[in-house]
Amino acid sequence: MAQINENFLKIPATYLFSEIAKRITQHKEANPTAPIIRMGIGDVSLPLPDASVDAMIKAADEQRNAETFRGYGPEQGYAFLREAIVINDFTSKGINIEEDEIFVSDGAKSDTGNIGDIFDVNNRVAITDPSYPVYVDTNAMAGRAGEPSVTGEWTNLVYLSCNADNNFVPALPTEKVDLVYLCYPNNPTGTTLTKEQLAVWVEYAKANKVILLFDAAYESFITEENVPHSIYEIEGAKEVAIEFRSFSKTAGFTGTRCGYTVVPKQLMGYTKSGEPVALNKLWNRRQCTKFNGTSYIVQRAAEATYSPEGKLQVQALINFYTENAKIIREGLLKAGYTIFGGVNAPYVWAKAPVGMGSWEYFDYLLKEKNIVTTPGAGFGASGEGYVRFSAFGSRENTIEAMKRLEK
Ligand SMILES: *Cc1c(COP(=O)(O)O)cnc(C)c1O
Repeated sequence: MAQINENFLKIPATYLFSEIAKRITQHKEANPTAPIIRMGIGDVSLPLPDASVDAMIKAADEQRNAETFRGYGPEQGYAFLREAIVINDFTSKGINIEEDEIFVSDGAKSDTGNIGDIFDVNNRVAITDPSYPVYVDTNAMAGRAGEPSVTGEWTNLVYLSCNADNNFVPALPTEKVDLVYLCYPNNPTGTTLTKEQLAVWVEYAKANKVILLFDAAYESFITEENVPHSIYEIEGAKEVAIEFRSFSKTAGFTGTRCGYTVVPKQLMGYTKSGEPVALNKLWNRRQCTKFNGTSYIVQRAAEATYSPEGKLQVQALINFYTENAKIIREGLLKAGYTIFGGVNAPYVWAKAPVGMGSWEYFDYLLKEKNIVTTPGAGFGASGEGYVRFSAFGSRENTIEAMKRLEK
C-alpha cells in the first residue's frame, strides 16, 4: 500500500486566489459592464527586454547544428552566466562572491521551496508575518510546521509580526529558532530594512548559529540609498545567510523562468553531534541529484540582461513599475489612506479604513471602485486589516484607478 505524505493533507486549500476570482465573477455577473481594473496581480505585464529575446533566438538557432548544439549543461548553471552574475551583481558592488557559490535555477520559488531539503525536520523555523506563502507551505509539507491551528497559524512555526506598530521591522525571536526567512524588499508589504536593521539579524544569526534565508527577488526595485541590495553587503553575512535572486520581477522572466541562489562556502550547518558541514556542498549535492539545470536558451536570455543594452532595457522596465508605484502611493495618500511600501518595491500596502477587515476593504474597492486588490489576510494573520496594491499593471489603468479613489 502506497502511503502518502500526510503533511500535504494538513495544508489548507489555498483559497485566496480562488476566493478573489469568485468574488470578481459575482461582481461581474451583477454588473456586466463594470470596468474592472486588476491591481492584485503579482505577475509582470511588460514584455521581455529585446536583448533577452535576441539572445534566445540566437541560442535556439545554435541548436540546429551539431557543433553548437547543447545537451545537458552543468547542474549549477553555465560558466558564462555565473560569471556575469558574480561580476554584475556582486563584484561591481564591492561584494566578494565566487562563481562556485552561485547556483542557477528555474526561479526563486523552486529554490526557496527546495532549500528545506538540506535542513533537518526538527529545525525551528521563523517567518515574518505576513509573508510569501511558499515559505510556510513548503515547511508544512516537510513536516517542519507542526499542525495548523484554527486561526490558520502553524503550531511549530514562529511568526514575526510586521505591522504599522513596529513599522514593519520584525523583532528578533524571543524563543530559540534555527532558520529564519527574510524577504526584502518585502512581498506583500513593499517595505524594506535598512543596512543597520538587517545587520541586527546578521549579528543575531551569528550569535545563535541561525541560518538566514534571504529572498531578494525585488532587489532591483530599490531606489533608496541605505537599503541593502544583497544581504552580503552586511559584514559577516556570508557566515550566516543564503540569498535567493530571480530574473522574474527584474527582467520579466516570470514565464521564461530563471533565478539563482547564493550559498557561500564558509556557511555551515551542523550535525546532531555539532560537527560543522558546509551547506554549499549539501546544496550542490541536492541540485546535482534532483535538478538538471536551467535550459541553455534561458540562461543566454538571463546573461543578456547584463549586456550594456540589456541593462538599459531592464532599467526601463523597473522605472515603469516604479513610476506606477509612485502614482499608487500618491493617489492613495490623496484619498486619505494610510499606506506603506511602494518606494523600493512594486507593492503598496494600504491600511483598511477603521473598522474594516481585509476582505471588507477588498469588497468595498471591488464593488464601489471596480478595483481588484489582494486582501492582506491571505498572506498571514498580521496581514489582516490591509490590502496589497500591485504596480505591475498598465500606466493607463493605474492612473484611472487612482482617479476613482480620489472621488
Ligand atoms: C515573485 C517572487 C519570487 C520569484 O519567484 P520565481 O520563481 O523566480 O518567479 C520569489 N520570492 C518572492 C517573495 C516573490 O514574490
